[in-house]
Order: sequence, then C-alpha cells, then structure tokens
Amino acid sequence: MTFQLPALPYAPDALEPVISARTIEFHYGKHHQAYTTKLNSLVPGTAFENATLEEIILKADGGIFNNAAQVWNHTFYWEGFSAQRGTAPSGKLLSMIDSDFGSFEAFKTKFNEAAVNQFGSGWAWLVLNAAGNLAIVTTGNAANPLRDGLKPILTCDVWEHAYYLDFQNRRPDYVNVFWQLVDWNIIAKRLG
Ligand code: MN
Repeated sequence: MTFQLPALPYAPDALEPVISARTIEFHYGKHHQAYTTKLNSLVPGTAFENATLEEIILKADGGIFNNAAQVWNHTFYWEGFSAQRGTAPSGKLLSMIDSDFGSFEAFKTKFNEAAVNQFGSGWAWLVLNAAGNLAIVTTGNAANPLRDGLKPILTCDVWEHAYYLDFQNRRPDYVNVFWQLVDWNIIAKRLG
C-alpha cells in the first residue's frame, strides 16, 4: 500500500492570519509530505505492507509507527479546520462538553493549559474515552490516542514547526487563536 499526502480541503491561505500560507508551505508541504514519503520507504518488506494507517498505529513501533502516526495526526489536524469562521459546538457535542468540562469556555481553558504545558514536541487532543466521556489528553512526539483505546475528536499540533514561523516561541498565542480555525460542524461529525 502506498500512502498519499491528502489534499488540503481549503486554499493554502485560507487559514490566515492564524496559520499563514508560509506555514502551510512548510508544515503541510514539507513536514507532512516528508512523513508520508518516509513511511512509504519503510513499509515495504515488513509485516505492514498491506496494513492501513490505523492498523500500523495500533501495532507498529519505531520509525514505522512514528511516521504513520505523524501522517495520521497531521491529516486529522488539517481536516479539523475550514475556511469558515465562527462555528461553535451545539446539540449533543455541546451538552457533552458542558457535562464533562462545565462549559465550553472551561473546556477551552483546560485544553489550552494542556497544550501549553506539553513539554517539547507533541499534540493536545480532545478524545472520547471508553466510558463515553470527553477528555483532554496530550501525547509526546508522534504518539496517538488510538493506541490507548481513545477516539480522537480534535487535535492541536504543538510541535514548534506548527507555530514558529507565525508566532516564534509564543505557543500560548498560537493555541489561543487556534480556536478561530476549528470547524465545529466537522468536529461534531467525528463524535459519531
Ligand atoms: Mn506538525
């Protein structure tokens, strides 16, 4: 199986000014592409030759895991955004957020704290756990919550390459405005 870099569902400048076209050029065009290319170079001749990305994430280790998870994580990150601004959670998703975090504002505050406090490279996630509750988790480097039996709903990439061109060292500023890009209609569909 050859993995492809999925096309972005919006123009490269659609996320400006939060994520610049320049960041898209490198983060999507170079980093995400490189994980895809590297994965395709590692898989042939291994037990994962016919595996899906999710199967690799659940079972692989080392470079194959890291590159497969980074391909998946980045696709999930990009696909949580749209050119539309100003959406908000509603219906079932909003009532789950209210019941699991107190309020949408309290949820965002808790998520921001997790994202800012993730030491070094990694990801902040909103996940659905086995009990059917929403939770916030962070993972280091390429790690993906699927591996822990959690269903990812939303993610924020906190590797420096995600924000350095636009915000330099100011990760809190990036995380604060990241919310402007999230399309809650897409996120609600992920809840299933
Ligand atoms: Mn990244």
